[in-house]
Amino acid sequence: MTSTSSADNPSVPTPSDETRSVTGLGRAVDAYIAVISVLCLGAVLAVSMIEATSDNGRVNWVLFGIIAVLLVATEVHATAWLKFGGAGSVTPSWTFTFCLMLLGSPTGAIAAMGFASVVADLVARKESYKLVFNVSQICLSLAIGALILFAFDIHGPLLIDGDLPTKHAVAMILSGIVVFGSNGAIICRLLATIEKSKFWTLMRESFALSMSADAAMLALAPILLITASQSLLMLPLIGTATFFIYQTARHAIARAHEANHDALTQLLNRRAFGNEIDSFVLQPNSLSSPGAVFILDLDRFKEVNDRLGHQIGDHVLHEFGQRLISHLPDGAVIARLGGDEFAVLLTETDVEHAASIASHLHEQLQEPLNIGGFPISAGTSIGVAYFPEHGQTSDEVLHAADVAMYRAKRYRSGVEVYQPFETSQQKGRVGLLGDVGDALANDEFVLEYQPQLDVERGVLTTAEALLRWNHPVHGRVNPAEFIALAEHTDLIGPITDFVIDRAIRDVASISDELVAAVNVSARNLADRHFASRTLATLAAQGFPTKRLEIEITETALAIDPELTSVALDEFRCAGVRVSIDDFGTGYSSFSTLRRLSVDGIKIDRSFITNAANDDDNAQIVTALISLAHGLKLTVVAEGVETLAVRKLLESAGCDILQGYLISVPLPLADLAEVIAEVPPRSTLLADHPVSLPAVVS
Ligand code: C2E
Ligand code: CA
Ligand code: CA
Repeated sequence: MTSTSSADNPSVPTPSDETRSVTGLGRAVDAYIAVISVLCLGAVLAVSMIEATSDNGRVNWVLFGIIAVLLVATEVHATAWLKFGGAGSVTPSWTFTFCLMLLGSPTGAIAAMGFASVVADLVARKESYKLVFNVSQICLSLAIGALILFAFDIHGPLLIDGDLPTKHAVAMILSGIVVFGSNGAIICRLLATIEKSKFWTLMRESFALSMSADAAMLALAPILLITASQSLLMLPLIGTATFFIYQTARHAIARAHEANHDALTQLLNRRAFGNEIDSFVLQPNSLSSPGAVFILDLDRFKEVNDRLGHQIGDHVLHEFGQRLISHLPDGAVIARLGGDEFAVLLTETDVEHAASIASHLHEQLQEPLNIGGFPISAGTSIGVAYFPEHGQTSDEVLHAADVAMYRAKRYRSGVEVYQPFETSQQKGRVGLLGDVGDALANDEFVLEYQPQLDVERGVLTTAEALLRWNHPVHGRVNPAEFIALAEHTDLIGPITDFVIDRAIRDVASISDELVAAVNVSARNLADRHFASRTLATLAAQGFPTKRLEIEITETALAIDPELTSVALDEFRCAGVRVSIDDFGTGYSSFSTLRRLSVDGIKIDRSFITNAANDDDNAQIVTALISLAHGLKLTVVAEGVETLAVRKLLESAGCDILQGYLISVPLPLADLAEVIAEVPPRSTLLADHPVSLPAVVS
């Protein structure tokens, strides 16, 4: 019967004892269970008192006994398999119990079902609160059903000499509906508390999912009763039929559940989530009830998975799902879109509220997950999009949230809200990725160069090429908006080829010494021909290999260390410099650096920019510099914005400085001017920051 469904499946998000005590969810659940138990006692007492004062002497106790035994047997064997269809998920015991009630002894039916439920839960070794809830909810719904029969003045068997009077038939159907409905409501109320879902949404889903099965199981009760009353020999026949109908229904419901849920976390899957969004976004009144969609992506899941194994990886995803459930407000719809990507739908929420939920959530998700007693921190980036503002269909809203999430990843800002391009006439409908392909063909990409200052020699040694996109409609688009998207497609190949080709031409046109640094993605290095193609370009242009530096981010390195190191070795053997970008944000150890044989590291600007006012960062930076020097690696500090930081870096022995203090990224012409103004080997720049001809916003 339904009682088995709500709390037994291991994947059911019933609060684990840990969350029960920590979140306060436990208190709400306990209080609810207590209320149901008290109501149950009252209702059962009322039923037994009414029954005691009425005459039910004609009950067929032999048949009653046989069916009661069948009931207990099936209930104990009923596997705990259903989760979401909690309300209304059926087992054959449903048929048998209702049958007992129709036989004329509701109290007996309730006692048999209560007994079966307790035995089943004891056999399954369920926690006591689950046992109490299961037995209370089922007995309460049966008692309510019995009161309906009493209301029709039916105090004995429904069949009178093999006949079913119309009044009795009506009472029976009504009572069946009430038992089913109240049982569903009691369970959905509990699930709504635990899953933080909306009660009515759960009821709708549960009923849609198992209506046909429940109807079939309930309808079998009178058939079983009538047939068995004719001859007990018919019992095995009707019993077999009941079993097969149950099996079929069970499989159908399980398949329906699987189609909409992620097997690992039991959260909604992408398809079901899309439908959820559409059901809100496509509502005619959606303009008056706005909502928000978050896309969450774990920052270092790949590393966890690769280093600790898939089993731990799965555990992390499951725990992460649980954490989302416990930290989000009631009514939030949560899904796993695939891989390490999750999503949240908040309805009837205003923009400020959603944004504060997102940043609060981000903060809470920073806490390491407890995986088998070990703290594992994976970090999360969250992209937020609002509807109807950022999209009118689930695809559009999800796309917008996705773009925002990539932005959060790129800027490592944690949470970003989707920003439709300011000049955009068609907000939120930008097929940005489609445009990236055209951008190359239409020559819409340009490069800016940010010079790097050699501390000791006071020379501008290197210029890092940074990509900018002059979009025909949206104006200037920064790399954070599109590089991460392109990195997920093959488009990153031609883009990087373009950057390298343009950068070496540009740099060669203004200097004979300047090194060109370019950013290279993990996907580029995974391309077996990338290194040889690049070396061929250098040769064709007559650009010395030692004047090209490739920057690869620390996180990208972790993606496929084998493949990456093949490409990096090829570059290094040819004389190209290799440095690790954004150092300190990933997990690479110094031994990895040695194995990969790189030339230098660029300490991430998150450590640098405020190093002068943050002792921890100052210490980290100092330590990184001396460790790197121990390995004979050159150290670049990125994001140097103030003189105080510069002084600190200089005294720590940092080799090269890059940042707004030295210069913002400049168009080629301005870079040429700076190089001319501050000739190589001059120390001028060290004391007089360049006046900036073109300040990047
Ligand atoms: P990155 O490689 O870490 O590049 C440095 C970023 O920091 C640049 O942002 C630069 O404008 C900014 N920056 C420089 N100095 C300072 C400073 O003093 N303070 C602060 N707060 N920021 C500073 P930008 O140009 O928006 O580039 C963002 C990221 O996009 C880059 O981060 C890089 O990862 C990626 N990117 C840029 N161009 C390319 C490219 O051609 N190919 C690839 N694959 N990625 C690129
Ligand atoms: Ca870089
Ligand atoms: Ca960087």
